[in-house]
Amino acid sequence: MSAYSLFSDGTARQESPVSLNLEQATSLITDRAKQLVNQLINDRGHDEPPFLPEELAHLQGIKPIVRADLGKTSAVLLRFHDSYVIKVNQNHSLARQNFSCAHEIGHILFNELKLERYIRSIEYRTFNPQGEQKARAAARERLCDAAATELLMPELVFGKYLSGFGVSVHSIERLANIFRVSIRAAAWRIAEVSVEPCITLLWQLWGRSKPKGLRFMWRVGPGRESRSKANYIPVHTLVRYPSKLHRAYEHASPVKSSKLFKVDNVIKRLPMESKGFGHGDARRVISLAFLGR
Ligand SMILES: [Zn+2]
Repeated sequence: MSAYSLFSDGTARQESPVSLNLEQATSLITDRAKQLVNQLINDRGHDEPPFLPEELAHLQGIKPIVRADLGKTSAVLLRFHDSYVIKVNQNHSLARQNFSCAHEIGHILFNELKLERYIRSIEYRTFNPQGEQKARAAARERLCDAAATELLMPELVFGKYLSGFGVSVHSIERLANIFRVSIRAAAWRIAEVSVEPCITLLWQLWGRSKPKGLRFMWRVGPGRESRSKANYIPVHTLVRYPSKLHRAYEHASPVKSSKLFKVDNVIKRLPMESKGFGHGDARRVISLAFLGR
């Protein structure tokens, strides 16, 4: 329960340099999120998930979260002289609402830590000033997402549940339910937190010809903290029908296969587990590829 007290000393806030790189900015906001979770764990006397934004918001002087029809917007953060109000889109799933709220809390932490100085240091090598603005906005949002991820799925607690359930596609849904996050968020977090190095990949239907292929959309891992910054990219990013991945897409049960990955100009074959999630147009296949198996 008290493992989080390791992070509760607040030193990171006091001695941050004037200019920051991405790694420093990410670890500052993640550490601040850890402190907040730690405070919550101490207050309630246990570290059992979920870590709901309502509980976390209370600690940050945020008035109760307001649910409203926000059209296409996920959430907004309103600042008053002594407090904040978060409005979240009531039409989104509860998992998405949780992430949106946690992301807005991330913006508060971002302001507290004065991370704008990192954003200002981002140079975008182009004559197009809009490009620079976009790159900075994207970087700001990514930092708030990193905070949201830590708030909802604290590394240590998530890691404990993950090793209990086992690093497998079977665990994704269970973790998503327990931490009240989306399937994608839980799958992404597995690759970041897992002690056993693994990569999470997402595939979706692609192309006009029928039957459609499955196209690689994104990947994450191995491990944010991992020393090796190696980028494992699947050699074939479009998988034609029929394939084991299609079997995972069409059926409910997980499918085992293997795939070629390119890393530092070397090709490696990695064992993989894949499972289909979602219905209709929203159906995707999520795979975990294991580096050491
Ligand atoms: Zn944002």
